[in-house]
Amino acid sequence: MADILKPLNDYATRNGEVVDCWEQLICPCGDSLFQLYSDDNEGGAYCVCPRCRTEHDIENSRNYVVSLVRNVCSCNFELLEIYVGKSVYPDTTEPKWVYVGGACPRCGVIGVYVDWHER
Ligand SMILES: [Zn+2]
Ligand SMILES: [Zn+2]
Repeated sequence: MADILKPLNDYATRNGEVVDCWEQLICPCGDSLFQLYSDDNEGGAYCVCPRCRTEHDIENSRNYVVSLVRNVCSCNFELLEIYVGKSVYPDTTEPKWVYVGGACPRCGVIGVYVDWHER
């Protein structure tokens, strides 16, 4: 997984908050491709599983979403694998910065779609 995530880690490094752990989002129904909705100004995101319609609130950030953007890949493919990365405060598990990365299963492009300072 480390190699796949390199572009995400590069982004986090440039941002100055290195990610301590990444987790891939897997729906309880077993699916791993989602529709991603986010607000990059306010910092929040959620995604929806197209198979079972379950909504996943990413790090309880959905309440912060004001102007919703549907994130799609630059190739226009609409479903993404979702990786959630967090940097934590030293010696804690308390998140400081949250990154939401998406990987396109069609063209292979991976990138951070939204990130925010945890409130
Ligand atoms: Zn599902
Ligand atoms: Zn793509």
